[in-house]
Amino acid sequence: MFDKLKKAFGGSDEAPKAEKKVEAAPVKEEVKAEAPAETKAASAKPRIGYIHLSGCTGDAMSLTENYDILSTVLTDMVDIVYGQTLVDKWIHGTFAEEMPEMDVCLIEGSVCLQDEHSVHELLEAREKSGLIVAFGSCAVTGCFTTYARGGQQAQPKHEAFLPISSLVKVDAALPGCPVAPEMIAKTVVAVCEGDLDYLKPAMDLAACNAGCGCDVLTNVIRQGLCSGCGTCGLACPTRAMGYSEGRPSCDRDRCIKCGTCYVMCPRSWLPEGRIKKETGL
Ligand code: SF4
Ligand code: SF4
Repeated sequence: MFDKLKKAFGGSDEAPKAEKKVEAAPVKEEVKAEAPAETKAASAKPRIGYIHLSGCTGDAMSLTENYDILSTVLTDMVDIVYGQTLVDKWIHGTFAEEMPEMDVCLIEGSVCLQDEHSVHELLEAREKSGLIVAFGSCAVTGCFTTYARGGQQAQPKHEAFLPISSLVKVDAALPGCPVAPEMIAKTVVAVCEGDLDYLKPAMDLAACNAGCGCDVLTNVIRQGLCSGCGTCGLACPTRAMGYSEGRPSCDRDRCIKCGTCYVMCPRSWLPEGRIKKETGL
C-alpha cells in the first residue's frame, strides 16, 4: 500500500530503510524475529512520526481536537513511533535513542537555518521517512515566521525561517493556521486507505511554498474564476480578507501569509480543462 502511495506522491525515491533491511540484511531479520508480539502487531499499522520545528504546536492541538474519533485514529489506525509532544522516547518498552524509520512523518513549523539541531532533524526525517507531510502553514509557507528578522534574545542570530520544502522534498502539504481537525483526521484515514483522490490536492500543494492573500487575486480573480462566494474570507484566521463589490481584497498588514484563503477557495482546484472551458483561455 505504501509503495503505491510513494509512487503517487512522487516522494522519496528511497524505500524506508526498514524495508531495505528486511530484504538485504539477515542480521536485521533476526532482530525482527526477536521482537515482542506487541511490536509485530503494531508494525502492521502505518508508522507515523511527528516533528516539531519552529511552530506553535497549534497543529498538534488541532489534531487532538478530533475528540470523538481521536483514540480510533491514533490508537487503532496508526502507530505513533516518534514525536515530541505526542509520545516520549519509550516505544513498546524499548528506549529509542534515535529517530526511528517511519512510513509518514508530519512536520510542524518552519525550519530555522541558524538552528543546527532543527536542520539536522529535518534532514534526518527525510532520510528515515517514506512520506513527508508539511503539517500546518508554518511548515508549508513559513506563515508568520516569514516575518522573523532575528535580533531577539536569547538567540539574536536566529533570523532565517524557511518552509521545509526549501530544504527537503515534501510529499504532501496541509496548510492552515492551524490545519482544520477534520482535514487532519481525513488525511490520516486517506493515507491508511491509499485514497489518492482525497490526497491529490495535498500532493499538488507539496511543492508550493508561497502563501499570501494575493494568491486569490492572482490565481482566481485575475483568471476570471471568482464567484464571490466568500469562502476565502471565512477561512482567513486574521480577517485580512475583506470584500469590495462582491470580490475579495486583502489587507496586507493583517495577512500572516498562511495560504489558507487560496487553498479553501472552491475555484482554486478546478481541473485545468474546466478552467479553460469557463474562461476560454
Ligand atoms: S473563495 Fe474563491 S471564489 Fe469565493 S470569493 Fe474567495 S476568491 Fe472568490
Ligand atoms: S489573507 Fe488570511 S487566509 Fe489568506 S494568506 Fe493572508 S492571513 Fe492567510
